[in-house]
This record gives sequence, C-alpha cells and structure tokens, in this order.
Amino acid sequence: MDFALTEEQEMFRRSARDFARAELEEQAKELDQSHRVALDSLKKLGQLGYLGMGVPETYGGIGADALSYAIVMEELSRACASTSTAVSVQNSLVEHPIVEFGSEEQKREYLPRLASGEWMGAFALTEPESGSDAGALKTTAQLQGDGYLLNGTKRFITNAAFADLFVVFAATAPEQGKHGVSCFLVERAAPGFTVGKEEDKMGIRGSSTCELHFQGCPVPAGQLLGEVGAGFRMALSTLDAGRIGIAAQALGIAQAALEESVSYARERQAFGRAIARFQAIQFLLAEMRTKVEAARLLVYQAAWKKDQGQNYIAEAAIAKLYASEIASQVADAAVQIHGGYGYIKDYKVERLYRDARITRIYEGTNEIQKLIIAREMLA
Ligand SMILES: Cc1cc2nc3c(=O)[nH]c(=O)nc-3n(C[C@H](O)[C@H](O)[C@H](O)COP(=O)(O)OP(=O)(O)OC[C@H]3O[C@@H](n4cnc5c(N)ncnc54)[C@H](O)[C@@H]3O)c2cc1C
Repeated sequence: MDFALTEEQEMFRRSARDFARAELEEQAKELDQSHRVALDSLKKLGQLGYLGMGVPETYGGIGADALSYAIVMEELSRACASTSTAVSVQNSLVEHPIVEFGSEEQKREYLPRLASGEWMGAFALTEPESGSDAGALKTTAQLQGDGYLLNGTKRFITNAAFADLFVVFAATAPEQGKHGVSCFLVERAAPGFTVGKEEDKMGIRGSSTCELHFQGCPVPAGQLLGEVGAGFRMALSTLDAGRIGIAAQALGIAQAALEESVSYARERQAFGRAIARFQAIQFLLAEMRTKVEAARLLVYQAAWKKDQGQNYIAEAAIAKLYASEIASQVADAAVQIHGGYGYIKDYKVERLYRDARITRIYEGTNEIQKLIIAREMLA
C-alpha cells in the first residue's frame, strides 16, 4: 500500500506510529473513560513537530506536505482519535488560516507558539442556531473606535477548555449575510470572553468540546484575520483542507478496528475452532479490508492533489465522505466479530465504534459533503 510514498513520508509514518504505540495506545481507554485530554502528550507532539506540520520552517513549523500530515493523522488516530482531534484542529483549522490569510505580524506572533505546542488553538464557526448553514451565524463584531466588540455564542468548539487562541467568525455587516462575515484572532484572556461547560459526548471523549460566550468582548483591529467580509470564504477554504485530516482520522479508526478484528478472530474459539476459520467471518474481514484500502487511496489522492497545487475540493469531500462512512461500517463489523465482548468497554472496538461516529458529522456533515461533490461536478 505504501508504493507511492517518498522516503520522508515513510519516515513520518514510522515515527508517528512509534509515538502512537508508545504514548497514546495505552492511555486512550483511560482518557475516554475519565473524559480527560492528554495535554502532556500534546506537548510532546508539539516537540516532535506534529502540531506545526503545515507551518513553514521560518515560523517554527516543519513545512511538511499534506500527504505526510494525512499519514500522521492516520497513525495517531489508530491509537487515539481523541488526541488526533486536537492535532487536527491545531494544524488544519487554526494554523492553516493563519498561514494562508494572516499578516506578517500575526504569523510571527502566533505561528511559532502554536507550532511548538506552547499554545493550543480552537476554531469557532458553529453556533447554537447555525452549523451546516454557517453563513447564518448570529455572533456580531461591531466596529468601535479602532477595534471591534464581539457579542454572541459559539457551540461545539473543540479544544475550547484549554486553547489559548481562538479563530472566531462573526458578522461585521449582518445585513450582508455570509458576505458580511469576518474572522478574528481572539486570545483566551480577552475581557468579555468566557468558555462554557464541557459537552458530555458519545465518542472522542478525550477531547474537549465547549460553548464560547462573547459579551462585549473588545478585539483590536490588528486581530482581524484576512479582509473584512472575507470570513465565510476563508472558513470554507479552511474546511476544504481540514477535511483531508478528518478523512485520515476516519481511516485510522477503521484500520484499528480491522486489526483488532483480525487478531480477535484468530484467538476466539467457537465450535472447536478459531472463528477466523468460518467463512462468514472471513468474508466480513475481507470486506472490511477492501473498504479500508479504498479509503486510504482516496485520502492519499486528495492530499496528493493538494500537494500538487491542483483543485482538490471534490477529492477532499469524497475522501471524507467515504472514509467516515466506512469507518462506521468497519467499526460496526468489528463489534460483531467480537460478539458480546465487542459491546464491553474493556475492548477497544467498543470505543472505536463510538469514536468513528463523529467523523460523519464534524467539518461538514456527510450530507454537506455530497452537496460539495455535486456542486464541483455541476459547476
Ligand atoms: C464533537 C464535536 C466537535 C465539533 N468541533 C467543532 C469546532 O471545533 N468548531 C466548530 O465551529 N464546529 C465544531 N463542531 C460543529 C459541527 O461542525 C457541526 O455540528 C456540524 O457542522 C453540523 O451542524 P449542526 O450540528 O448545527 O447540524 P445541522 O446543520 O442543524 O444539521 C442537522 C441535519 O440536517 C442536515 N442538513 C443540514 N443542511 C442540509 C442541506 N442543505 N442538505 C441536506 N442536509 C442538510 C445535516 O447533514 C444534518 O444531518 C463540532 C461538533 C461536534 C459534535
């Protein structure tokens, strides 16, 4: 499967796999059960460069390509999708827009701290009344003096409990709808800004998801990211790139479910033989592997097209759609292969089944992915 990878990409796979095995695999169950974020592991990921993969070296990152990033996301997700969620937000949703749209001053101020893991970031687009229809957001940023005043509520914001920097989307011209949305860099200590309660989630329970409240929060004009009114366009292009990371996360979860199933099927005895000897189980495993490998090709293709500077919007949506759907299917089959044990929290597949589910929802639901794929074909 690794036929098309460069030596450097292979190296990323090996080192991410080693780190995931040594650091994440063991603690993933405890993180899930205690709803704890692996902040120490995130610091180590920062030291290894995995929190600044797409950040150019001049700003403290490692300037890796999108395919290497996808490979790292896949490997980390095999062990702990909760931790890879934080990694994906940092790389795809926080650093990417600063690299793409930030001023020189903003890049110098924030990228080195984010890339090293000294600071963590969050991306705040979703609101209580707008998710898929993100352009209908209600948070406002009113011009006041030489800055803005933020008012509104954001919902389901990953990394919120501990993030130092928030990429926040708000309407500077509400009457212009999505064309009146702008983007701001808000530091945690900003007055009038508070982080709300932690959500109690089905899966990725070792990640943080909270509401954000802005009540007359002053933001200096220098914290505007990109141009006034360009926020919605920036959010969409950020999510286009981010989707490759979520597709890779889904792929990693599916790969883990497949591996668990193969080893369990070899060990578990029924009717005097290993269940792997039953053709029903063999067919299930064969279908699971076929789906995982097809998903991997789609993920790599989307990342490769991005690296070639080609239009990858449809490919990223296709990869996210397919990889997330098969992650749920493969995790479901893995639970089935484990029989009753698959339903018990002592077994990894129970967590994989729950963790897989979110990949069909965030960074654009799969219904939205289909809209994007159709739009790209019919445009
Ligand atoms: C754990 C978690 C972490 C998250 N992290 C973040 C984050 O860090 N930052 C952030 O900004 N957001 C985040 N989100 C929000 C996430 O991106 C949204 O939940 C998602 O985009 C869907 O929005 P919604 O929940 O409002 O659902 P809705 O938009 O209300 O959708 C409800 C249903 O209607 C369907 N639907 C909506 N519109 C259409 C349409 N036009 N055609 C067909 N079907 C449609 C949807 O597919 C879905 O099935 C997170 C969510 C969760 C659960």
